[in-house]
Amino acid sequence: MPKSHVAVLGLGTMGAGMAGRLLSASFPLTVYNRNRDKARPFAASGADVADSPRDAASRSEIVISMVADDAASRAVWFGENGALVGAQRGSVLIESSTLSVGYVKELGDAAAQKGCQFLDAPVTGTKPHAASGQLLFLVGGSATVLDAVRPVLAAMSRDVIHLGPQGSGARMKLINNFVCGVQAASFAEALEMAKVAGLDQATAAKILTEGAPGSGIVKRIAAQLTANDDPNFILRLMAKDLAYAVNEASAQGMQLQTASAALQIFQQAVAAGHGDEDFSAVTKAFKHR
Ligand code: NAP
Repeated sequence: MPKSHVAVLGLGTMGAGMAGRLLSASFPLTVYNRNRDKARPFAASGADVADSPRDAASRSEIVISMVADDAASRAVWFGENGALVGAQRGSVLIESSTLSVGYVKELGDAAAQKGCQFLDAPVTGTKPHAASGQLLFLVGGSATVLDAVRPVLAAMSRDVIHLGPQGSGARMKLINNFVCGVQAASFAEALEMAKVAGLDQATAAKILTEGAPGSGIVKRIAAQLTANDDPNFILRLMAKDLAYAVNEASAQGMQLQTASAALQIFQQAVAAGHGDEDFSAVTKAFKHR
């Protein structure tokens, strides 16, 4: 059976890895990125490069978006040359960026008006997981539509979890990331408290990471204290996730207290100029006090 033609919109840290996996799995692929330079290596590897999301969608049966935030997603789907304008009737549109639930539902409604199917399918995992096909997809939408695109998602993931109707994947992703953000902010604050108290920060970090507080996120941040690797997940995107989670809970009449406190610390780090560094730079949030 011929493989479906897939489009990937957004070739940042995550989208680039995902597109690479689809090429490795021999899916006919069209890519689009706002900054065209990032698309060049994909042309050399056999992908078609589209001039616009509209162009990419018009050539594809499955369209996957992986961009920064609600505004970026709005630009690639709803813009004058957006993917919704070019999307073929009956195609499956998949939004994998971490976005607000309200926006994702609006996008799902717009897809339905175009006669397209829609899934929200954000991911857990970071740059190496995207590059090696080890992501976890959290999916909202029709189970039948999900089954139709499973071979495509399988090429990029270790597992796919169906959570319920449209918006469920987006909601679960915000819950997942607010817990990560809270742990990151509390670890940063713990290190600062150790420093202010005159304790050795490296020793404090070792005790925290090797003991009960040493979650995967805490260990990743501790490892970045000494390494200086390229960002896996930039700090301002974690701040965005916390803000979306706080807003989503508020829309449900719930005050997300720990996420609100963590958001303040992340905003402090952004204000201090660390927004484009790896999110582990949240440990620098207090340096400018
Ligand atoms: P990234 O490296 O910063 O890439 C962002 C992408 O969005 C780029 O392709 C960028 O295009 C595009 N973009 C931004 N604003 C745009 C606009 N106004 N119009 C069109 N395109 C726009 O981000 P990432 O780390 O790949 O993350 C992508 C999404 O996945 C985010 O929602 C993030 O929260 C989520 N996520 C990230 C990770 C992670 O570990 N990195 C893990 C899970 C989920 P340009 O190249 O032209 O700027």
